Amino acid sequence: MTRFEDLPLIEPILRAVREEGYDRPTPIQQQTIRHTLDGRDMLGCAQTGTGKTAAFALPILQRLNSVPAPNPRHVRVLVLSPTRELATQIGDSFARYGRHLPLRHTVVFGGVGQQPQAQALRQGVDILVATPGRLLDLIEQRIAKLDRVGILVLDEADRMLDMGFIHDVRRVIGTLPKKRQTLFFSATLPHDIQTLAKDILTNPVRVEVTPTATTVEKIAQSLYHVDKHGKFPLLRKLLQDPTLQRTLVFTRTKRGANKVAEQLNMNFVKADAIHGNKAQSARERALENFKRGLSRVLVATDIAARGIDVDGVTHVVNYDMPDVPENYVHRIGRTARAGAGGIAIAFCAPDEREELRAVEKLIRLKIPVKAVPAGIAHSAVPTPGAFGSGARPAPLPQHHHPHPQRQSAPPPHAPAPQHSPAPGSPQRPASPPAHPVAGRPPIPRRILWRKRRDR
Ligand code: AMP
Repeated sequence: MTRFEDLPLIEPILRAVREEGYDRPTPIQQQTIRHTLDGRDMLGCAQTGTGKTAAFALPILQRLNSVPAPNPRHVRVLVLSPTRELATQIGDSFARYGRHLPLRHTVVFGGVGQQPQAQALRQGVDILVATPGRLLDLIEQRIAKLDRVGILVLDEADRMLDMGFIHDVRRVIGTLPKKRQTLFFSATLPHDIQTLAKDILTNPVRVEVTPTATTVEKIAQSLYHVDKHGKFPLLRKLLQDPTLQRTLVFTRTKRGANKVAEQLNMNFVKADAIHGNKAQSARERALENFKRGLSRVLVATDIAARGIDVDGVTHVVNYDMPDVPENYVHRIGRTARAGAGGIAIAFCAPDEREELRAVEKLIRLKIPVKAVPAGIAHSAVPTPGAFGSGARPAPLPQHHHPHPQRQSAPPPHAPAPQHSPAPGSPQRPASPPAHPVAGRPPIPRRILWRKRRDR
């Protein structure tokens, strides 16, 4: 198995990696670092949690360091990120991995005053991490000068598209030198993203890492069939267990997130909520409190949480089942950072069983069901056999022990598995197996035309 020492990385970088406590390169790091050092373009199909930031940051730092910094300094590397949170995290990563190198970076994003960012740029930086809207403003004012950028990283390109930034991204790229190295990362490759990739990449190395399987396998998952009104009492009960040290709770709505956080605080569990309606400063504070252990629970919506990177999350609670099954994987992946195992617990109300079924089909696992503690409104547990196996789900004696068993993939044309309702519970009409993944028609990709939202 490859070790970091087997990669052609210089000692100051290897030292920083050791100090981070990384033992071995993750698959995307193993597959890309050499090529990036060689100057190749990259098309990486990977999402947050795979170690992709280090995969691009380490070789970029090394390449920059191999030539003396020009005087005055100018931006030689541009990293575009869809959100402020992700941009900040990428900036932090460059700072950590580059701590033994004489390189400078800064991060610019919207929603805050421009002056300090302009000041940092005027002083000269080697690496600029930016969200597209603010960067365009700075380019138009001639504060950000990108005419000597030699490396461009486009991170979470599909999310840029979702958030309506793709035109801004194209405009920024239009200002860069044509001769450069481009590293392009996206969790998914919808048509528009493929077109963009084709336009800006030259003979790229293609890598695809699938965190879904590895992430899911490492996480001990369990499920409670609980009535809607039993959810909060169940959460409170679970939090009596002190092993739930740093718990991320996912709700479907912003209001739901606020409500759960409020109720927890009323019950003496320190909690913050994070979602798109919160001001930037409030979101940063909530995240910081959670990172530093000042709050034990962070309640989040899917959009707000994507891209947030907090190490040491002990538990993820799916307070509401996600609308989009892929989000279940994104959510629970937060508790298995950097190869660590984690614990994920899901609450499923009777009207969320369609969503549960879609999730189980996507991850090809039957999530083991746990009994709702006495006194909490549970819902009739559907009989098992989501995959036609007829097998009962393995009982889970405790949160952290068993890992659910992998199911073999049903053929694409196989009928969608059904949960049969428990005796006495209302009969749900069987939905036709319209979609090979979720057993229902695909959910249209939402294009959120919130242009320049990050300004
Ligand atoms: P990323 O996919 O870049 O968001 O990284 C996810 C997490 O993995 C971050 O918390 C990194 O600190 C961590 N990480 C990155 N590379 C490694 C590695 N080789 N070994 C252990 N942890 C890593």
